[in-house]
Amino acid sequence: MIASRLAGFGTTIFTEFSALAERTGAINLGQGFPDEDGPAALLEAASEAIRSGANQYAPLAGVPALRAAICEHQRRCYGIELDPDTDVQVTFGATEAIAAALLGLLEPGDEVVLIDPSYDAYAAAVSLAGGLRRTVALRPPDWRLDVDALRAAAAGPRVRALLLNTPHNPTGKVFSRAELEAIAAICREHDLVAICDEVYEHLVFDGEHVPLATLDGMFERTLTVSSLGKTFSCTGWKTGWATGPAGLVGAVRAAKQYLSFAGGTPFQHAGAAVLGMADGWFDELAGTLRERRDRLCAGLEAAGLEVLVPQATYFANVLVDGDGAEFCRELPERCGVVAIPTGAFYADPSIGRHLVRFAFCKRPGVIDEAARRLARPKGA
Ligand code: PMP
Ligand code: GLN
Repeated sequence: MIASRLAGFGTTIFTEFSALAERTGAINLGQGFPDEDGPAALLEAASEAIRSGANQYAPLAGVPALRAAICEHQRRCYGIELDPDTDVQVTFGATEAIAAALLGLLEPGDEVVLIDPSYDAYAAAVSLAGGLRRTVALRPPDWRLDVDALRAAAAGPRVRALLLNTPHNPTGKVFSRAELEAIAAICREHDLVAICDEVYEHLVFDGEHVPLATLDGMFERTLTVSSLGKTFSCTGWKTGWATGPAGLVGAVRAAKQYLSFAGGTPFQHAGAAVLGMADGWFDELAGTLRERRDRLCAGLEAAGLEVLVPQATYFANVLVDGDGAEFCRELPERCGVVAIPTGAFYADPSIGRHLVRFAFCKRPGVIDEAARRLARPKGA
């Protein structure tokens, strides 16, 4: 019964493995969501918004106070100047922003360059928008960007856009300035729109997050996407945004108005209340997650796994001898832990066949218990 645009995408890997965790009672280090709340001020602001009657449709573009706070955030953190009326569109999470961008920009048969492993929603959204993907792969252990391969993928009469994610899920890579310069040059050379997913912008431990839009000649061709979910540990709120030049944001808006129109009004108010006063929170969150990363990586190493230490995000990958998907399917029964096979994020899963992704956005006791279970000898 499912339309051909969705054929082959099946059930998301996160749904599958979170269900496996539920079924087996295993510790869920698969789907990336924190097990602690974000700042109390955020939660209080959402409650206050509900109590004070902010419970009806938001304006299509988003609650004005949130749009103003997003502009202020982009200016303060990155020196990007935006007009809150024309250059910002609030969405149901980064996911809707990306889907609306593709739906608003692509003609049937247009091609989009993805850098694999890529977040699972990208390929599906390209297909929903009638597009086709062209992929370039980052490979372990160093996840180096092959600029020549990227240039080749970007060349072609139907290539319209490049979808980048930095900091990057699932590798934990932060694209370097030199890599971003090379990507920017390719976008300019081939006149591509760049869609840059920066939801992990404040979860960086090593290296520096550079928004693609800040590079020469890139603001006018870049849509920057982010959301409250990762920055404030509220992944269930699904409050995100796309920012950029009015023409590109207009394309997002044109599609978004007929997807969901507007919503999440109290969460938008809460985001407005905290985005502006949050620099201390950003540092605290990154510090906490750095400790959790180190804790999990040490635990995985102690369990005899070959760990690829991430620079950012919620995730660390390990290299296993056999097939990562099989490893992940057996793991709950074998030792009561759920992880995600990173191969699922590649158009060609064989490239990521030996990779397994573990989330570390969990309390220290949970990470320690998972590590203890992983270190248990087989069959014990
Ligand atoms: N992009 C990336 C790279 C992600 O890892 C995620 C997962 N949360 C999202 C987008 C989705 O963001 P949101 O929940 O704001 O839709
Ligand atoms: N971004 C989260 C992850 O990569 C999952 C989001 C989802 O469930 N779609 O684990």
